Amino acid sequence: MRQRARSLALDVFAPRAASIDSAEMYPWENCFALRDAGFMGMTIPKAYGGAGAGYQEAVVLVEEVAKACGVTGRIAVEANMGAIGAIMAYGTEKQKNLAAELVLDGDKPAICITEPESGSAATEMKTRADKVGNGYVLNGTKHWITGGGVSRLHLIFARVYENDEPQGIAGFLVVRGEPGAEGLSIGRREPTMGLRGIPETEVHLKNLHVPSDMMLQPPSGLRKGFGDLMTAYNGQRVGAAAVALGIAVGAYEQAESFIQKREQFGRPICEFQGLQWMLADMSVQISAARALINEAVSGEGFPDKTKAAQAKLFTSEMAVTVTNNALQMHGAAGYSRNNPVERMVRDARMFTIGGGTAQVLRNVIASDLLNRKFPQTRDGYLTGSSDKSSMEDLRSVVERNPEC
Ligand SMILES: Cc1cc2nc3c(=O)[nH]c(=O)nc-3n(C[C@H](O)[C@H](O)[C@H](O)COP(=O)(O)OP(=O)(O)OC[C@H]3O[C@@H](n4cnc5c(N)ncnc54)[C@H](O)[C@@H]3O)c2cc1C
Repeated sequence: MRQRARSLALDVFAPRAASIDSAEMYPWENCFALRDAGFMGMTIPKAYGGAGAGYQEAVVLVEEVAKACGVTGRIAVEANMGAIGAIMAYGTEKQKNLAAELVLDGDKPAICITEPESGSAATEMKTRADKVGNGYVLNGTKHWITGGGVSRLHLIFARVYENDEPQGIAGFLVVRGEPGAEGLSIGRREPTMGLRGIPETEVHLKNLHVPSDMMLQPPSGLRKGFGDLMTAYNGQRVGAAAVALGIAVGAYEQAESFIQKREQFGRPICEFQGLQWMLADMSVQISAARALINEAVSGEGFPDKTKAAQAKLFTSEMAVTVTNNALQMHGAAGYSRNNPVERMVRDARMFTIGGGTAQVLRNVIASDLLNRKFPQTRDGYLTGSSDKSSMEDLRSVVERNPEC
């Protein structure tokens, strides 16, 4: 499978990567090439038309694709490991069939969590889903939604209200452009530093009617549902790590080849120990990142939260360093927009931010190591949320530590 993915990436995606970046155009042809190779929705169980592949295979695919084109690597993640993973784990038959049909046809689903005023503090989201008759009415604004305006399937997170009483956070499946989905519209697109072939947009929800059977029911119920949905998101985090890994490997390979050809002082620059050590460090960092990713996907089901956080944290920071070093080893040639390394530096930069910042991932890891929850709000409560379980956790911490 690695070989097949590598050939597709080299023959089809690599030649298009520069123009996708400069034209800032969504690479539909690449989506269809992934689809035709059986790589869109390959983790979907066979019963729903997929290949029933695991995350172990998905990260191999993503790394190979991202080596050639980071944008297409991200599409491969979201078509195999993001919203689709949550829907396949928790969805009803109707929801699974709907999602499978769209993704297997080439759609990259959008996952809508972030809002203009709730980024890292995702549980402070304001988008609400009010129960009305046999359905929900969604109102709110999402921001930084990858695939806004190109994705059809949207998994939208909202705070559910019944009779104006908050019930917890749930996901809702909405297909953009379908009759009934008129309340979903696409807002402004962010002019991004890298990964320019995928639109990052606002998504506006105005009196969007969603039937009850399109609410994704988390197994722990609505009160703790966000936790379940975030468990599925660990898959997306490892997928993001695999894209960052692929970009870093792509930059490393460019540098390795360049320093053997470029001559200064009458000898190939690879003969200078300064560059040899940079190359050696880069290769060690890449191998360590790959090992963390493989460890995160080594079990059954969704990756473990801490292992996923460790993999994404290390790989994202590694990719920033490795791509920068690769550019440095090219000298001025690396600074030219004609060189893929320049794009790779910009593309790698996102991964310490999107899908959980490096700081927040450190919080996740530390909390697990110390086996304690550390509420981040000033008063210790998840303000704006009705998450009673968090308040109970906090109460028990205070009881054990009266001095605090
Ligand atoms: C390219 C891109 C694509 C994205 N795609 C999607 C998508 O498809 N769907 C989606 O829902 N979202 C998406 N996002 C949003 C992304 O998940 C958020 O950007 C991220 O969660 C951080 O939120 P923020 O940008 O609002 O930063 P903020 O939360 O405002 O953070 C600002 C700074 O404060 C730090 N900080 C915040 N809280 C803490 C804390 N408790 N401890 C220590 N430091 C802290 C952060 O680390 C950061 O350095 C995307 C973002 C990017 C850049």
